[in-house]
Amino acid sequence: MKTNCEHLSEIKVVQPSADGCEDCLKIGDNWVHLRLCETCGHVGCCDNSKNKHATKHFHSTAHPIIKSFEPNENWGYCYVDEMFFESLPTV
Ligand SMILES: [Zn+2]
Ligand SMILES: [Zn+2]
Ligand SMILES: [Zn+2]
Repeated sequence: MKTNCEHLSEIKVVQPSADGCEDCLKIGDNWVHLRLCETCGHVGCCDNSKNKHATKHFHSTAHPIIKSFEPNENWGYCYVDEMFFESLPTV
């Protein structure tokens, strides 16, 4: 079992692409929670949302790390390593 994630060194300071899930906003749908891509700033919805746009974003772009985009939540997740982080390093 891996204990560290090499993708953490690749995260960037990103500008969130939207205030909500940008893909749901396009199709007029709604979401449960939001996730922010730490590679490009894509805002997508979580796996509890029916469209799962954050996970779809990973599958289409291979951007590995997302951070919670919910107020007062700092945790992150690496899709490649399937690892949760209590917080992500500040860049
Ligand atoms: Zn990783
Ligand atoms: Zn969505
Ligand atoms: Zn991305």
